[in-house]
Amino acid sequence: MERKTVGVIGAGTMGAGIALVCARREHGVLLLDANQTVLEKAKSYLISILSKDVEKGKISEQQKQETLERVQFVSDIEKLAPADIVIEAVPERLDLKKSIFGDLTRICRSNALLLTNTSSISITEIAGGLTHPERILGFHFFNPAPVMPLIEVIRGKKSSEENVQAAYQFAVDLGKVPVLVTDTPGFIVNRVARPYYNEALRILGDNVANVEQIDRIMKQAGGFKMGPFELQDMIGIDINFATTQSVYTDFFHEGRFKPSRIQQRMVQSGSLGRKTGDGFYDYSK
Ligand code: NAD
Repeated sequence: MERKTVGVIGAGTMGAGIALVCARREHGVLLLDANQTVLEKAKSYLISILSKDVEKGKISEQQKQETLERVQFVSDIEKLAPADIVIEAVPERLDLKKSIFGDLTRICRSNALLLTNTSSISITEIAGGLTHPERILGFHFFNPAPVMPLIEVIRGKKSSEENVQAAYQFAVDLGKVPVLVTDTPGFIVNRVARPYYNEALRILGDNVANVEQIDRIMKQAGGFKMGPFELQDMIGIDINFATTQSVYTDFFHEGRFKPSRIQQRMVQSGSLGRKTGDGFYDYSK
C-alpha cells in the first residue's frame, strides 16, 4: 500500500477521527481547522486514544510517537498543496463546502482526489460550477470514524470513473468497508436513519414518552446499540438537524422527512450534544 499525504479539513467530531484512521495506516496527515482550540482538542484526542492503545498492548510507545508525528496541525488551507487526497469534514453547509472545494481545485495538484464527508448534501451540487468536478466525490465515514467500518463512496454526476475507483481503493486501504452509492438525498444510511430520529422526536413532542424512556425502549426491547436521543447527542444536534433539513429540501419537502421544531430549538439554544456538554442529556459532569 502506497503511503499518501492526506489533508483533512475540519478537526471536529469527524475530522479528528478521520485523521487518526489515516495516521494509523501510515499516511501523512495535514489536519486543518479554522479554530485553534479545536486543533488542540484534536491533538489531545489523538494522544489519549493512542495512549490507550499502548496500555492495552496493541502498539508500542515508539509506534504511538511515530503515529503522532505523522499528523501535522495546520490552520492555513494553502498548506494542503502537497496532499494526494483531501477529505473535507467541515459543518454541513453547502456554501462552506463549495467555497472550500473552490479553493482546493486551485491549491491542490491536478491529480489530487477531493473528497467530502458530507452526510447528505448532493455531491453534484458541491462540485457544480467548479473547474474540476471529476475530482470531487463523497467519502462518508460514520461516527466514530476509527470504529465504524462503513464508508459510503458517492459518485457525483461528473465524478470520473477513475477517481471513483481510486476512492474505493483508498477506503479498502484504510481497512474500511466501502459501498458505492449514487448521489441521492441522504445517500443510503442517512436516508434510512431519518425516520429513526424524526419519529422519536414526534413521540417526544406528542408527550407519549420522554427522552430516557424512548432511548431505553429502543435499546432494551428494540436491540439498538444507542437510542435516538443518545445518538443525536453523539453526532451533534446541529449536524443531525442540518442533515434532516438537507434531505427534506432535496426530497422537495416530502412530509415524511420534515424536520422537528424540538431539534431546531435545541440548535438555536446552542445545546448541541456532547460537544457542548449539553443536549438531550447533561454531560457537564
Ligand atoms: P463539527 O462541528 O464537530 O466539526 C467541524 C469543524 O470544522 C469545526 O471544528 C470547525 O471549526 C471547522 N471548520 C469550520 N469552517 C472551517 C473552515 N472554513 N476551514 C477549516 N475548518 C473549518 O462537525 P462534524 O460532526 O465533524 O461534521 C463534519 C462533517 O461530517 C459534516 O458534513 C457532517 O455532516 C459530516 N458527518 C458527521 C457525522 C457525525 O456523526 N457528526 C457523521 C458522518 C458525517
